[in-house]
Amino acid sequence: MTQPARFPLPESLQTMRNYVDGQFVATGKTFDDVSPLDGCVLGQVHEADTALVDRAVQAARRALEGPWGRMGVQERARLLYRVADVIERRFDEFIAAEVADTGRPLAQARALDVYRGIANLRTFADLGKVAHGDSFETQLANGQELMNYTVRKPLGVIASICPWNLPLLSMTWKAGPALICGNTMVVKPSEETPASATLLAEAFDEAGVPPGVFNLVHGFGPGSAGEAMTRHPGVDAVTFTGESRTGAAIMKAVADGVKDISFELGGKNAAVVFADCDFEAAVEGIVKSSFTNSGQVCLCSERVYVERTIFERFVAALKARTEALKVGWPDEDGVFMGSLISHEHRDKVLSYYRLAVQEGATVVTGGGVPKFSDARDHGAFVQPTIWTGLPDTARCMREEVFGPVCHISPFDSEEEVIARVNDTDYGLAGCVWTTNLQRAHRVSRQFHTGIVWVNTWFSRDLRTPFGGSRLSGIGREGGRYSLDFYSETTNICLAL
Ligand code: NAD
Repeated sequence: MTQPARFPLPESLQTMRNYVDGQFVATGKTFDDVSPLDGCVLGQVHEADTALVDRAVQAARRALEGPWGRMGVQERARLLYRVADVIERRFDEFIAAEVADTGRPLAQARALDVYRGIANLRTFADLGKVAHGDSFETQLANGQELMNYTVRKPLGVIASICPWNLPLLSMTWKAGPALICGNTMVVKPSEETPASATLLAEAFDEAGVPPGVFNLVHGFGPGSAGEAMTRHPGVDAVTFTGESRTGAAIMKAVADGVKDISFELGGKNAAVVFADCDFEAAVEGIVKSSFTNSGQVCLCSERVYVERTIFERFVAALKARTEALKVGWPDEDGVFMGSLISHEHRDKVLSYYRLAVQEGATVVTGGGVPKFSDARDHGAFVQPTIWTGLPDTARCMREEVFGPVCHISPFDSEEEVIARVNDTDYGLAGCVWTTNLQRAHRVSRQFHTGIVWVNTWFSRDLRTPFGGSRLSGIGREGGRYSLDFYSETTNICLAL
């Protein structure tokens, strides 16, 4: 599209460069950053080649062995606070960057994305200051006494590869703990969301963080910056958030170097609604957990199981509530959903909308593309969609769609529903809606997932563990779990 985007990037971001060794670096090759709202080109992104990734890794190594490595945790925390302060001061630019790149509502970018970006840096700066090791006093059979104690050291140079769905949130979720633990980083945002990443590099620069500590490279995955990072022998660990398939490819790439990995991958999450729930709260909860961010949150509920005695009433209420959701421009009053991230992703979501019908689904609402009769018709919008009638074996019940869609199935007993919830290749999150306290505890501990919410969804305390099992990931991040991943522990054993 040649006309100006309705939600443009701030002028300074119309050319987005890499940030390596404290310098903003242009390269000979650029790609377009495209608005998912109206298909307009927002700016040009300088793609990092293998040589630039190598420069970034070497700069990170020098910083690790130099000023950053020698700096105390208090000083590192002070600098992370300064980065957070810059984000807070440039709040509106970050909002504009996130909204332009992702097409999400302004209100969401304000309340969630940029706010959490700031909170991630401050929270981990605080937690890093109180991180401590263990000590063990030992007496051997021969009477010899020993003192064991552990010290934490940085893992080294961390490659951080991030997704497009929550760009600033994901980058800071990894940068906060990695940096407070004394590591240095090479960060790659998704090719779909270069803007807030470029601003984040500016924030690190403005805050006076030494060169080489935080490096940003733009580009794609295979054959581009992402693959160059994971294959680089100078990288000590990879932290990755994205699709399970990409996680598998990265695992192969790092296998020869036996590198540490932390993977936050996809989900096919279930929500269970019992007849004894607070009905209105459960309907509202499922609307949020299925359609927030146009369903592009790894934690979204794509499978909803509702106790048979309230099934028809629940489906009718959810349909009415979903049809009342406003889909539109990010700044419209009361807008709930924006576009999907891209036309390519919309093609994938729409292919599942078609597949569901082929697999025998009843489309309760949605299933297509909204018509606006303005520039949004060139955007990547889809309707929020509800299906019923699919067997648990259908592909639409087993594969992550990553769009605003849920399937509702009836169930008859606790035992039955727990088995169905766990009958999946994924293991990220689940929700239980009930007012029965014993049932809430009994059911939630039987979910094979890293997270279970009871009568809520997405509520997070950054100190709690976060992650998934099976295709949903490896390891836990959050609070001390992040500090443990981003530290190398040495045990020192002293004969007394
Ligand atoms: P993606 O896997 O397509 O891309 C993620 C990142 O990996 C991008 O930066 C991409 O350029 C890079 N990449 C792709 N192939 C690569 C390769 N071979 N080597 C190195 N890098 C490579 O994921 P996405 O589409 O950006 O994000 C959506 C997915 O992320 C969904 O599956 C979602 O569930 C998942 N996700 C999970 C969590 C979680 O915490 N579990 C959080 C957010 C998103």
